[in-house]
Amino acid sequence: MNKITNHLPTAELQALDAAHHMHPFTSDGQLAKRGVRVITGANGVYLKDSEGNKILDGMAGLWCVNVGYGRDELAEAAARQMRELSYYNTFFMTTHVPAIALAAKLAELAPGDLNHVFFASSGSEANDTNIRLVRRYWDIKGQPERRVIIARRNGYHGSTMGGGSLGGMAYIHAAGGKIDGIEHIGQPHWWAEGEDMTPEAFGLMRAQELEAKILELGADKVAAFIGEPVQGAGGVIVPPATYWPEIQRICEKYGVLLIVDEVITGFGRTGNMFGCQTFNIKPHIMTVAKGLSSGYQPIGASIVCDEIAHVIGNDEDDFNHGYTYSGHPVAAAVALENLRIIEDDGIVDHVRNVAHPYLAEKWHALADHPMVGQTTLVGLMGSLQLTPNKEKRAKFAAKPGRIGYMVRERCFANNLIMRHVYERMIISPPLVITPEEIDILVARARLSLDEAYKQIRDEGLWQEA
Ligand SMILES: *Cc1c(COP(=O)(O)O)cnc(C)c1O
Repeated sequence: MNKITNHLPTAELQALDAAHHMHPFTSDGQLAKRGVRVITGANGVYLKDSEGNKILDGMAGLWCVNVGYGRDELAEAAARQMRELSYYNTFFMTTHVPAIALAAKLAELAPGDLNHVFFASSGSEANDTNIRLVRRYWDIKGQPERRVIIARRNGYHGSTMGGGSLGGMAYIHAAGGKIDGIEHIGQPHWWAEGEDMTPEAFGLMRAQELEAKILELGADKVAAFIGEPVQGAGGVIVPPATYWPEIQRICEKYGVLLIVDEVITGFGRTGNMFGCQTFNIKPHIMTVAKGLSSGYQPIGASIVCDEIAHVIGNDEDDFNHGYTYSGHPVAAAVALENLRIIEDDGIVDHVRNVAHPYLAEKWHALADHPMVGQTTLVGLMGSLQLTPNKEKRAKFAAKPGRIGYMVRERCFANNLIMRHVYERMIISPPLVITPEEIDILVARARLSLDEAYKQIRDEGLWQEA
C-alpha cells in the first residue's frame, strides 16, 4: 500500500477510514454514508481539516487539551524522554525518574493527604484501578463484604467494563453488560428532573438517595461512592449547592470511601486546580486523566489518600494490579511538562480571572435565545439546554437528540465544535482561550442556534412532548 499522508484527497482518506477503521461511540455504517471529517492539524484553539477549514474547537478535543494545541515544549519533552529512556515498566521493584517526578508533583498539587499515585493510561483504566483499590482496602481491613460501589445514573466514568459499569449510561450497559457490585442512584439534574422543587431542595433530596441506598444495602456492604464534581459527558450538569456537602456528610457517617472523578474537572477546568476545591469536596481517591497531559499523551492516575495507600502498601501481600504502561516515562515526562506550563503560564488564574468572567457574560446572554432554557458555566465547562417551552422546562416531541444534533450540525458548518448530549449543547474549550476567541465562539454558537431554530420551525419540529 502507498504511504498514507495528509496530502491524499479527502475522499480517498474517507474510503480507507470506512473500510478499516472502527470508531468509538459510532455506527460505522452511518458514518461511512455521511463521510468522516479528517483532521489534519491544530494550533492553539483551532483545528484544521483536510478541506482547509479552520475550526474553533469548543470541546478541547474530548475535554482534554487544556493548554491548547501545538505546544512545542510538549513535543520537545516527549522527544527528549524517548531518546533517554523510551520505556521501562514500574513493576518488579523498579522505577524511573519521570514516574517519580510526576507522582511527587501530583501529590504536591492535590489537596489534603492525597499523596500517593497509581498510574494508568486513561481515565477508564484509573477508575478500574479504583474499583480494585477500594475493595482491596476493605479486604485488608477485615471487611471483605464491603464491595458495592454506588454511582449515579447518567454519570460517566469511562468505557472499559469497570468504568462503563460505574457510569450510569444505560446505552453503555446495553453494549455488553455491566459488572456486578455496582449500584446507581439518581443524578442532581434539577432542570430535567427537579419538577417543582427548588434546586436546593432537589439537590438535597438527590444526595439523600445515597443514604437510602446505603441503608437498603447495609453500610457493611458498601465500599465507596463515586461521582464527578460536575457531570461532563452527561451534559455539563452542575449540582445544586446543597448536593456535595450532603454527599460528604453521608459518606463520613457510614465510613463509605469517596472517589471523586476529576478526569474533566482536574487541572484548571473549573477555575481551580481541581473541581474538589471549587465544590469543597474531600475525597479519599481522585481520578485524573485528560488535562493531566492536555491530551498530548495517554495517561491517567488514581491519586490516593494516606490511609488507603498505607493500608494496601503495608500488607505483606502484593496489590495484584497494574498496566504495562503504568507511569510510562514518555507520558509522564509530557504530563510533567504540561503541569509546568499550567503553573508557569498562570492558566488556572487565566480561567478564573479572565476567560470565565468574560465567557460567563456572553454565555448567559444566550438565554435570551428562543430555544435556550438554561445556561450553565463552571470555569470553562458550559451547557445550553434547548427547550420548546422555557416556562415548563418542556422536552421536544422529536426523538431525543434530534434537535441537539441539528444544532451541532449547524455548528460544524459554521466552523465551531460544540457537542450535544441529547438536547443539551456543551462546551469545554482549551483553557488558554482568549477574549477575542471567546467572541468568535459565542458568535458562531448564536448563528448556529439561529439557523437551527429556523430549520426546526420550517420542518415542523417546534413541538412540545
Ligand atoms: C473521559 C472520562 C473518563 C474516561 O477517560 P478515558 O481516558 O476516555 O478512559 C472517566 N471519567 C470522566 C469524568 C471522563 O470525562
